[in-house]
Formats: sequence, structure tokens, C-alpha cells
Amino acid sequence: MAEGKFEERKARAKKMLAYLKKAYPEPKTELTYKTPIQLVASVMLSAQSTDKRVNLVTDTLWKKYKTVDDLANADLAEFTKEISSITFYRNKAKAIIGTAKMIRNEFGGKIPKTEKELVLLPGIAYKSAHVIMGELHGIYEGIPTDTHVRRFALRFDLTDSKDLTKISKDLEALIQKSDWKYVNNGLVLYGRYVCRALPHPCEDHPLTKIWPPAAHRWPKAK
Ligand code: SF4
Repeated sequence: MAEGKFEERKARAKKMLAYLKKAYPEPKTELTYKTPIQLVASVMLSAQSTDKRVNLVTDTLWKKYKTVDDLANADLAEFTKEISSITFYRNKAKAIIGTAKMIRNEFGGKIPKTEKELVLLPGIAYKSAHVIMGELHGIYEGIPTDTHVRRFALRFDLTDSKDLTKISKDLEALIQKSDWKYVNNGLVLYGRYVCRALPHPCEDHPLTKIWPPAAHRWPKAK
């Protein structure tokens, strides 16, 4: 990318973040959990699903499965049935039980703290690894991109890519590391609840004023 374009995007991202931090000072994950493994499993359940739907299911599920052992010892058929109102529930049930087993057997029952280890778990890729690291360990070494962050980054021309991990890398280059903690929740929640996918009048929004062409860009959700 040309140096000028990169610098221009960097300046835009800075202004946008300043606005978001002021308008939404304390963004927090919407997933409900009480134990670390419940967060890991909730993150896995939330892939291509809404946090609201996941919370509806985990409201009763997490009364039964609290620890790594509870999930590692879960009966696959029973657990699959229990999460069957969530998208891709069969694969997710296998991945969650497999992940709990691996955490128990290979990580001493503790949730790993590094991306390198986390992506070894079944069903955990770059995005989920960084969500887990931030939420459980307060480690912000990456910017996870979900469908909302992707749409947001494309709308505001912060990336040339449509690939989630490449968008993460583009955002990581544009945004200073001290802001990654904020961005981890802030962009996801803003994209999900405020900056929605369906076209609506946008010209007068303070964010759009920072970069007016965004008013006419409505990237499709993936
Ligand atoms: S008006 Fe535009 S910038 Fe504001 S939330 Fe809606 S899409 Fe996002």
C-alpha cells in the first residue's frame, strides 16, 4: 500500500477511535459466564450466532457445566441436544468437548494464555484466541475481526481485504497497541449494535463526518 494512503488511514482510524471512546467509553463483552471454560465455550458457541441467542442457551447450560472436567466429561449426544438451538451445533458440541479434553489433558486444566497454544484447540482460530486472551487474561496482542468489525473496516476504508485475519493485521498496523484493549470490545459491539448492516441515513453521523464516503458504502455481511 502506498505510504500516503497508509498514513491517511492511520489518521482516520485515530479520529474514529477518539470518537468511539468518547461515545462508548466502556464496551464489554455481552457473553455471560462465571468460569473461564464457560467463556471459552461461549466464544465458540457465538461463532456465526448472536450473543443473545448464546446467552439464552447458556443461562441453563452453565448451571450444569461449570468446570473443565464437567465439559470434558460431557456426553456428546446429550450436549449436542442441549445446544441444538444454536447454529452449527453438532460441530460446536464436538469442538467444545474436544477443547475441554485438551485443556484438561495437555494444559493442566488451565486456559492457555498464548495465541500459539490457543489455536491448537479444536474450533479456535485467530479471532477467538484473541477474544479469549483479552477477556480472561487481559492480554491484548491482536485485534480479532468478526463479521461486524469486517463490515466496519470496509465501510470506513481501513482495509483492502475481505479476509478476517488479513483485516486484523491491517487494523493492527493502523491502530496503536495501547488502544487494542478498547478496540477488542469497542469495535465489535459498535459494529453489532450501532453501525448496523442495513442501509440507513448516515451522512450526518459524527463518524461519517470524519470520512463522508462511508455514508454510501454498505458492505455485505459475510
Ligand atoms: S449512521 Fe452510519 S456511521 Fe452512524 S451508526 Fe449508522 S452506519 Fe454507522
